[in-house]
Amino acid sequence: MPKNIQIAVVGSGYVGLVAAVCFAEMGHDVICVDNDERKVKALQGGDTLIHENYLPELLQRYRNTKVRFMSDLAEATRECEAIFIAVGTPQSETGDADLSYVEAVACEIARSITSYKVIVEKSTVPVYTNEWIRRAIERNGVARDLFDVVSNPEFLREGTAVADFLHPDRIVVGADSERAAAVLGGIYAPLTEGTYYQRADAIPGSCGPTAKPPLLNTSTKSAEIIKHASNAFLAVKISFINAVANLCEATDANVEQVAIGMGMDARIGPKFLRPGIGYGGSCFPKDVAAFRSVAEQLGLDFSMLSEVEKINENQKKRFLSKVRTALWTLRGKKLGVLGLAFKGETDDIRESPAIDLVEMFLAEGCSIKAFDPAAMERTAERLPAGPKLSYVESAYAAADDADALLILTDWAEFATLDLKRLNTTLRYPIVIDGRNLYDPHVMLENGLTYISVGRPSAI
Ligand code: NAD
Repeated sequence: MPKNIQIAVVGSGYVGLVAAVCFAEMGHDVICVDNDERKVKALQGGDTLIHENYLPELLQRYRNTKVRFMSDLAEATRECEAIFIAVGTPQSETGDADLSYVEAVACEIARSITSYKVIVEKSTVPVYTNEWIRRAIERNGVARDLFDVVSNPEFLREGTAVADFLHPDRIVVGADSERAAAVLGGIYAPLTEGTYYQRADAIPGSCGPTAKPPLLNTSTKSAEIIKHASNAFLAVKISFINAVANLCEATDANVEQVAIGMGMDARIGPKFLRPGIGYGGSCFPKDVAAFRSVAEQLGLDFSMLSEVEKINENQKKRFLSKVRTALWTLRGKKLGVLGLAFKGETDDIRESPAIDLVEMFLAEGCSIKAFDPAAMERTAERLPAGPKLSYVESAYAAADDADALLILTDWAEFATLDLKRLNTTLRYPIVIDGRNLYDPHVMLENGLTYISVGRPSAI
């Protein structure tokens, strides 16, 4: 029978909050700490603040009982055996990860350690960070045998974060001490022993009732590198298929067929071979830059990653050229925009290629009516509505009287629009799809000129 462990999670953002409620769902008692008092109050009151499936239900179930929210890290440290650091590690001006939030938390934890603690890096951090955390804690006067630092990288995807957390492909625990590895093993036991999946009320996901996701024990440094290398590799895959898509466009081939043919090779696999307007979000851009920076600091050439970034940036410019080619000139054109979030099913707009494109089209003199099911409020804080930019309440309102409709985010609901209605709503029946959500033949049958990525256009 897995045992109940007292856990503190520091940071209540996309990772910290999801981890906190999921640990409670696995049976543990959790204190979730954030230094943003406004967030703490909102979470205590049941407001999740972010759009994530299953989060409202789990928060409602556990808030103020199995998950307590507070800003007092000292109290959380005293009460808990394992302390997960899940604060931001944004990109600094030089490209490497800004670890000042992690350092601040490590020093604050150190001041309250009086019994053995496992300090867990959940944030994505460069290799050697565990050593810096250890040094910071020791410098604050804590004896070496009173704590261990462990790396337990998080692989969840926004939009499916709760299901990903509870149904992981793998759990990586980088620990250089058996005692710390055992604590982490105990925390994840409901998943690795499969007891969670036998529950009738388990959150559904990829693991069935007999599943037991693997837990990989590694050194702390290997675990840190696993996270950066995984994200960098996924970015490579996206830029690779985008470059292939461009080649398909130049040769009238179809990237969808090419991706299926490539993906049937078990060594390649079918996932992450979808071309588009480039990757974005709070992870891939900064993690690729940070990984390249780590290599540079070690005197190693990883310039392959610079090419990946270059292809990613060009993908937005190519999309803009496609719209220009379809509309002849851009100044004064009215565009309907579907999608502002960096991907579907989330309200996160950090490094969103959709927003970059909105800014690029505004700079070209276009006017834009934009719709996103969850990200409009956040976008309006960054790009306030004005004479050239408005936020509307539906996809059809965005299309209304537009010279063209642009699909920039892969929300599931954008793939099932009423095409006949779209045709009559648009001023000109032109759809330029940066996410390949539609079959070009179906668009043609509905009288729409359809331009997508790496596939022959339907005109
Ligand atoms: P986030 O910005 O949504 O949340 C970070 C939280 O930490 C904020 O609520 C902030 O107020 C809080 N915080 C900052 N300093 C603090 C302090 N001193 N004490 C207490 N709280 C503090 O960030 P996120 O998206 O959850 O990402 C967190 C980490 O996880 C990053 O390293 C990121 O790279 C990594 N990660 C993110 C994802 C993702 O999809 N978002 C996936 C895997 C890993």
